[in-house]
Amino acid sequence: MRYMTDHPLPPAPGTDEHVSLDFANSAASLPGERIIDSLDTPAAATEWLVERDLAPANAQLWDVCVNRLHSLRTHTRALLAARADNQAPSETDLQAVNEALTTVPSASLLHWNDDDGLHRVAEHPATQVVEHAMAALAADLADLLTGPDAGIVAACSAPSCNRYMVRTHARRHWCSTRCGDRVRAARAYARRNATEQSTRSKEPAAAN
Ligand SMILES: [Zn+2]
Repeated sequence: MRYMTDHPLPPAPGTDEHVSLDFANSAASLPGERIIDSLDTPAAATEWLVERDLAPANAQLWDVCVNRLHSLRTHTRALLAARADNQAPSETDLQAVNEALTTVPSASLLHWNDDDGLHRVAEHPATQVVEHAMAALAADLADLLTGPDAGIVAACSAPSCNRYMVRTHARRHWCSTRCGDRVRAARAYARRNATEQSTRSKEPAAAN
């Protein structure tokens, strides 16, 4: 899978296998409350879908399509969060995903005119592109949440990170070495501070 080369983080574990996880992480928070949203414009969203074979190369999305993708992404993230926390999912989130699953574009319909005779025409092709993509993303999410990886869906433990991942080994807490390094650095800093303070107050350092 190709990934935005200017993206500061490598794909989270499980992203290659589960495009819905990739979708959930497509708006990644970075330190300093920056968000990199790979789906922030119709052009960017089109490129994202085309790169993942979820839309034809000549696809053209519109603002309304982007809004629908953003909405599905919010519900996808909520369902992943519920799964990671072993909580019951909300009915609204389930409903939104089921709607995406079942709003699969209808077949091209049969038409007739003098020039072409009988022919088939896809209704609303622009709408169909995004609905097809949403159905595929929802199906992947449903498979992930009911498949062998469901029990190891996890949120990255780095406080500044909002990404979900598959915990590929039991002790994996971070979506990337970058997040792990950042948390370890913050802990070391906190420990140093605590030691300095306890030295000043001549009290024993807090265990950690
Ligand atoms: Zn992370």
